[in-house]
Amino acid sequence: MQFRDLKKQYTVLKPQMDAAISRALDECSFISGPQVRELESRLAEYAGTKYCISCASGTDAIRLALMAHGIGGGDAVFVPDFTFFATAEMPAALEATPVFVDVREETFNIDVNKLELAIRRTEREGKLRPSAIIAVDLFGQCADYEAIEEMAERYGLIVIEDAAQSFGGRVGARRSCSFGDIAATSFFPSKPLGCYGDGGAVFTNDETAAALIRSYAIHGRGADKYDNERVGLNSRLDTLQAAILLVKLDAFEKFELKNINTVAAMYTEKLKDAVNTPVVGEGRCSSWAQYTIRLKDEEQRNKMRIRLADRGIPTMIYYPKGLHMQRAFIGLSHQEKYPVTECLCRTVLSLPIHPYMSESDIEEVADSVKSAL
Ligand SMILES: *Cc1c(COP(=O)(O)O)cnc(C)c1O
Repeated sequence: MQFRDLKKQYTVLKPQMDAAISRALDECSFISGPQVRELESRLAEYAGTKYCISCASGTDAIRLALMAHGIGGGDAVFVPDFTFFATAEMPAALEATPVFVDVREETFNIDVNKLELAIRRTEREGKLRPSAIIAVDLFGQCADYEAIEEMAERYGLIVIEDAAQSFGGRVGARRSCSFGDIAATSFFPSKPLGCYGDGGAVFTNDETAAALIRSYAIHGRGADKYDNERVGLNSRLDTLQAAILLVKLDAFEKFELKNINTVAAMYTEKLKDAVNTPVVGEGRCSSWAQYTIRLKDEEQRNKMRIRLADRGIPTMIYYPKGLHMQRAFIGLSHQEKYPVTECLCRTVLSLPIHPYMSESDIEEVADSVKSAL
């Protein structure tokens, strides 16, 4: 059994995929080919934003979003403690200071009450300028943007949506990648919409930010290629990856998102009386980057992982460490406490999930989880 079965996906999409790749090879327009702009306009339309700018990775997308808003030295950027490293790595790389905030146990997303305490504390200390919040849509479910956007307005902060795991998720009619001032997503192969390598995109309604990002992503270019207005990056999505993503986006819209939600619903039905299953809020839809259960304690989780592995069922621990425990951030003074993150790190277990999962595989995983208890 595969944790996320990309081979199965390729088998199903092979005719369209091979044709799209071979067309891109025939055309030899490997950088900034027409597929790139076509993909960007389809992604913007899907997310419901005015602009989408593709780039080389989800990590670069976060970096570009921060650069477009001039975040740097002296700025405090609030991020959830329970997330992938890149969320905090990019503010730190730009010399801003990430301030970690604990999360909510049921949604795995940033705790808005604790966020406000962290903003107030930072203001009171007066050493850093509270500048931005990077809210993460962990495991596919959007963060609590209603409260986050209201709070950002009150304290004068920029909101960046880290939508690396949530492409396709939504809250009511609003889709992932449309929240906050600017959003960043990733096309890493195992994300909800993945390419065959690294890729990412930034989404915004702000014309000035969009123009800045287009410039920053290509060496800070100005009017033409050899006119450089600012210091930027070389961060583009390859034409081949764009061609691959156009095929995947069709499948994602037609059946993948629907199918993965069916898989998640079946898991929950079978497991809800045995373990803590993921909770998706009223009127929300997750894109299920992960299906993550919570066990009683660390011992039960670790034993479960071994028992499942014995039966050939792969599982993952996202994440074994909070950001405040990462060695790279050891120099930061951590004023806040992280009891929820620390508990999650000991008790979470992500089960295999993907849109091509068979009913018998779902049953096998669910039965194995129950019998391991
Ligand atoms: C994957 C991921 C990223 C980084 O994306 P890459 O494309 O791998 O650079 C950033 N944030 C979160 C929450 C992620 O899961």
